[in-house]
Amino acid sequence: MILDGKIVSSEIKKQLASEVETMLKAGKRSPHLCAILVGENGASETYVNSKEKNCREIGFNSSVLRFPENISEKELLDKIKAINSDDTIDGLIVQLPLPKHINVQKVTETISPSKDVDGFHPVNTGRLMQNLPCYIPATPYGIILMLQHYKIETEGKHCVVLGRSNIVGMPMSVLMSRNSNPGNCTVTICHSKTKNLSDITRSADILIAALGRPGFVKADMVMKDAVVIDVGITRVASSETKSGFKITGDVDFPEVSKIASYITPVPGGVGLMTIAGLLKNTMNSAKGIIEY
Ligand code: NAP
Repeated sequence: MILDGKIVSSEIKKQLASEVETMLKAGKRSPHLCAILVGENGASETYVNSKEKNCREIGFNSSVLRFPENISEKELLDKIKAINSDDTIDGLIVQLPLPKHINVQKVTETISPSKDVDGFHPVNTGRLMQNLPCYIPATPYGIILMLQHYKIETEGKHCVVLGRSNIVGMPMSVLMSRNSNPGNCTVTICHSKTKNLSDITRSADILIAALGRPGFVKADMVMKDAVVIDVGITRVASSETKSGFKITGDVDFPEVSKIASYITPVPGGVGLMTIAGLLKNTMNSAKGIIEY
């Protein structure tokens, strides 16, 4: 069965749009997501445009602040501080990558945790570890929403997470092992130094691939009837498309889909759920649900 990001994300967006209507009727303003974009990067432009489009669709306010490549670190940090104290903005994301002269960690830590709807601030990471209310990074949050939607049984299962990045693999492994539903898995986290990787993946009831290696997960690495979540997004040259490239996941979909019980497609899976997670975080911020 395909875990369809289009269906699930559009349901979530419908729900959010109706919440916006209720807020407006009550005389409140709609949630406002602000994105900062530094320099010119085609992929970043695409992501930010898509976030803006999604905000518009559900009645959120959205703004994009564009800065030239040569903006100084101090100027950028000052801008972030100004947004932190702007009561009309609920969520702030700074699109990565940033130019080399800007310290990404400093930028992440300057965003107020209460507006950090990407969930990258160490305060949110720490709270996630302790199972406290926080902004969960949008991609793992989107995956949790997907598992919830399809009522996928996770308790007592062996979940293998491929990749240990701060934005996907690490938070995903924490979420799957928490005493929660979805959660309560026994989790193994793998990375580039893992030995006998295929032996481990073959024992996974739930396999989450977040490597950035197109087609890495082959059918012989997957247990029959496993749930397979493909986070990977890599642009691969292709003669089949007008643009000359196609978006490819970390899983060999044609082969793995023959043995998996559930599987996410790429595109049309986790990518759409990531946007849904981001929008839900922004709504939570506007409602002041998460208290620090
Ligand atoms: P990342 O920071 O590059 O991390 C990749 C992880 O994969 C690292 O932990 C790395 O191990 C591990 N890895 C790489 N090659 C490996 C191998 N051969 N065997 C085992 N482990 C290996 O990437 P990321 O930011 O987590 O993103 C991962 C993928 O997800 C990318 O394709 C990215 O574009 C995509 N992504 C998609 C979404 C979405 O919305 N769908 C959102 C975010 C990211 P080490 O730590 O040892 O280096």
